[in-house]
Amino acid sequence: MGAYVDQVISGVKERFYWQKEFIQAAEEVLQSLNPVIEQHPEFQEQSVLERIVEPERIIMFRVPWQDDNNKVQVNRGFRVEYNSAIGPYKGGMRFHPTVNLGVLKFLGFEQIFKNSLTGLPMGGGKGGSDFDPKGKSDSEVMRFCQSFMRELYRHIGSNTDVPAGDIGVGKREIGYLLGMYKKLTNLHDGGVLTGKHIGWGGSLIRPEATGFGAVFFLNEMLKAKGESMEGKKALISGSGNVAQHAIEKLAELGATPISCSDSGGSVIDPDGITGEKLEFLMDLKNVRRGRVREYAEKFSSATYHEGKRPWGAAKAELALPCATQNELNLDEAKALKDNGLMAIAEGANMPSTPDAIEFFIANKIAFGPGKAANAGGVATSGLEMSQNSLRLGWSSEEVEKRLHTIMVDIHKNAMEAAAQYGTPGNYVNGANIAGFLKVAKAMIDQGVV
Ligand code: GLU
Repeated sequence: MGAYVDQVISGVKERFYWQKEFIQAAEEVLQSLNPVIEQHPEFQEQSVLERIVEPERIIMFRVPWQDDNNKVQVNRGFRVEYNSAIGPYKGGMRFHPTVNLGVLKFLGFEQIFKNSLTGLPMGGGKGGSDFDPKGKSDSEVMRFCQSFMRELYRHIGSNTDVPAGDIGVGKREIGYLLGMYKKLTNLHDGGVLTGKHIGWGGSLIRPEATGFGAVFFLNEMLKAKGESMEGKKALISGSGNVAQHAIEKLAELGATPISCSDSGGSVIDPDGITGEKLEFLMDLKNVRRGRVREYAEKFSSATYHEGKRPWGAAKAELALPCATQNELNLDEAKALKDNGLMAIAEGANMPSTPDAIEFFIANKIAFGPGKAANAGGVATSGLEMSQNSLRLGWSSEEVEKRLHTIMVDIHKNAMEAAAQYGTPGNYVNGANIAGFLKVAKAMIDQGVV
């Protein structure tokens, strides 16, 4: 038992030994699939696992641009078009110095199953660059985005591949990218990118969607335990788009969000990051592009912990890692448990290390993996695509209602798949299996392509 899965995992490790994040993501998904493979011999007969771990196409390109001193800079650009069995490639672009092919393959691979879980017709893709927007002027960011799109435009389209944002790519970058796309193609094909500003084709609630969705998912996990958000404290990492709106929704549902962080350190505010304090944080990060340290300097209820992550820094029943991959390790998982952790939902992609996840599950802490818990972002990108096709815009209430239904369904499907395949309560297995089955069946139906 398990020989087929083990053989595919060894093949991946051998061929891509330097892509450690990709290996981590692939191994987790593949290991969940053992009971599925037993019940569906056709997946092995048709080499579905060997096929699904290989991207359909990878585009890599040079991105030259001029900085404000007229010096020519060169970055690397990528788009991993991973799987189109159930819809056009869909997924964000990350601009961060840590970006490389292995990181984008991990993100693209996760995206296949996440997008499948949303129930919307979207394949999986991911892209980005090792460009660092931090400390760059608006004009530098614009020139970089224009150069990036000068190559990317020929590979994307509203029925081919639909990029969006991720770390380092927000509505400013999406604006510059869309502007250049139109200039090059003479097409006002607004559905080619999502995460657009509401004034030029975006969807209401898209900025909020990942954070709101993660909190909806957390709420469903609590309900399944007979618990609620009311009166609980929540630790959040990160301070970008996902963290900000997770904080907002937690407070709305009666919990107290008590932390945020950035690469410099974390802020703990036991009184809660709410009202004018949340407004300050949003302005600090989205407009002034400053550091969370300033929050602690401004509000006396808060303390700043230089160079530290927030895990285990205070008693909390809830946790939402919303920063980046591998930002929560086994020691931190133990510290969270000692401080009363009951449930955790991943707002970021793969923030918990494999041993931390194992620890949560072994200790009966409800663990919502990123590909389920943070699927609200891409789901609402899917709703943005629907509105673009309709040439209509839905109200905030309408979009949020649809997002909520999608998150409730993802939770239900993951829970049911986990139980059906022999690991009740294990959302990691449930999400991997539910996401995989739809894509794998589509691949078989469509033949060897
Ligand atoms: N980058 C987000 C994710 O990891 C959103 C992708 C999208 O909206 O296409 O799912």
